[in-house]
Amino acid sequence: MARVTRFAPSPTGPLHLGHAYAAFVAAERGDRFLLRIEDIDTARSKPEWEQAIYDDLHWLGLSWKEPVLRQSNRLPAYQSALDTLSAQGLTYACTCTRGDIRAVLSAPQEGAPIIGPDGPVYPGTCRGQHHPDGAIRLDMAAAMVRLGTVSFTETGTRPGTYRYDTTQMSREFGDIVLARRDIGTSYHLAVVVDDAAQGITEVTRGEDLFDATAIHVVLQGLLGLPTPTYHHHRLIRDDQGKRLAKRDDARALSKYRTEGATPADIRRMVGLPNP
Ligand code: GLU
Ligand code: ZN
Repeated sequence: MARVTRFAPSPTGPLHLGHAYAAFVAAERGDRFLLRIEDIDTARSKPEWEQAIYDDLHWLGLSWKEPVLRQSNRLPAYQSALDTLSAQGLTYACTCTRGDIRAVLSAPQEGAPIIGPDGPVYPGTCRGQHHPDGAIRLDMAAAMVRLGTVSFTETGTRPGTYRYDTTQMSREFGDIVLARRDIGTSYHLAVVVDDAAQGITEVTRGEDLFDATAIHVVLQGLLGLPTPTYHHHRLIRDDQGKRLAKRDDARALSKYRTEGATPADIRRMVGLPNP
């Protein structure tokens, strides 16, 4: 089967060495390599950063099959996925602020909060409250009653088959946000809907996102979407061993380019062989 991969950057700053590595991995592992612009965070996304993504990737010698999928054009698709989940009775509105959640979790009887991929696991305060609006959360326990267990295959830094049951999903992830009040979706919902829409067969991405994968597999199960295989790769770190972030402009690809580096130099810097 033809392997379909994607690189899914957010246009919120310059691409750096870590992005170059992620893009090379995705391009090299795919027979068909696609691009997705993850620009649902409209407050932080900028058209000039999107253009810079195309420029940097072209400079690296990468090309992708059109069309490029832009998440900001996909809000109706996310809404329809959300409607599907709501129609199954698996969602509820949550009006808690971060402070409310912190207060509940710091109550003496709660013990040490469990930290999930989105931060402290939500204590379920609004479940059963029937708020007319708010952030939309997934009722994880109800979802897992429908699915039983979920599993996925990982071929990257932590190879193996991973399985999660109801108890684990409720404890380690809880009622995750499907739709933020401001943007009508969340990273989790958008990535699942879009990986399916783009026919992705292998998700390649940094190992910082490994822990989010169980959530994605749950959503695929509920929405009747196929589960791709996953390939989480190592992160590129700076000399101090810290992972690179968008604000590390010092490591921007465009800066290396201006200073006369070649794409072969970039490959060397991220530890990839040159053909
Ligand atoms: N947009 C995400 C990022 O830039 C990647 C999401 C994914 O690959 O699932 O980190
Ligand atoms: Zn709440």
